[in-house]
Amino acid sequence: MIFERIVVSLFGTNCYIIGDDQTREAALIDPGGEWQEIEAKVDRLKVTIKAIFLTHGHPDHTGALVKTRKHFGAPLYYHKDDEFLVGHKADKFLKDGDEVPIGGLRLKVFHTPGHSPGGICLFETTTKAILFSGDTLFKDSIGRTDFPTGDFEALMRSIRDKIMENEDIPQDCLIAPGHMGTSTKQYEKQYNMFRGEWEKLD
Ligand SMILES: [Zn+2]
Repeated sequence: MIFERIVVSLFGTNCYIIGDDQTREAALIDPGGEWQEIEAKVDRLKVTIKAIFLTHGHPDHTGALVKTRKHFGAPLYYHKDDEFLVGHKADKFLKDGDEVPIGGLRLKVFHTPGHSPGGICLFETTTKAILFSGDTLFKDSIGRTDFPTGDFEALMRSIRDKIMENEDIPQDCLIAPGHMGTSTKQYEKQYNMFRGEWEKLD
């Protein structure tokens, strides 16, 4: 599997490339800025971008969207509930449970509102080895909910129901968040600062 991270934008957003190392088909996740760097990395990897995903519509995740979409000519996927933030029409709106094939890989969509109404996580289901958690779940922490459309309780429910209690996601699954370093599901279950908040939900 091809898995690359490029740190972009003033906010240190993680832009990811995930791809099939046999077919060289790949997806671009959260092109938040630095389009030259993203394009150079894609060239070096010798992959074809088949899809652009947004984990959510905040500007630090979409800053290079127009440039990269034009350059790669790939369809844009995100959840409709963030359309008001993205401001560019999707080629396809994603729903909870959708699966998008990228070469031999499959990215499964979990709708995880809270940080924004249309936030999603993307889980690679052929290996079950990686979950792109956007700004829903970070190493040791969670995404902000103090935006006008943020919702703390919704975020806690999203993390608990879609990630922590989702038995399809293995404990050692890598968590690749929208900012800062990677983690694992097991680590966040044990050490995340907010674990008490989602554990106490009804
Ligand atoms: Zn955000």
